[in-house]
Amino acid sequence: MAGLDGEPAATDGLFAWEDGALSRARVTQCALSRVCGACGRPLGRPVVFVGTVDEHADNTFHAPPMHVECAERVRGLLGTGWEAARTSGFEFVRPITGDVDPRPRFQPNSLLD
Ligand SMILES: [Zn+2]
Repeated sequence: MAGLDGEPAATDGLFAWEDGALSRARVTQCALSRVCGACGRPLGRPVVFVGTVDEHADNTFHAPPMHVECAERVRGLLGTGWEAARTSGFEFVRPITGDVDPRPRFQPNSLLD
């Protein structure tokens, strides 16, 4: 996998990303199989969502849940401007026809911090 310009993307090697962007199929797989968006291994509790400041404020994330340690690693890869939310549970929201946001997303429902 590589970025559009041929340079490796920061997210190369992460389970749910493909060519620097979230893979919809992998995101759905993470949600339904409860596997980590970074390493692809089964999740326990709590899980961590990593998102932008806006995603954090809306409590709606597009990147799938991750292990605590994996989320820290991903935040390091993505750079500044990303926040983490720790939760013991979440809802997986599938977009409906005409949805303003056509992407599948996650809403933590038991935030721990
Ligand atoms: Zn992981």
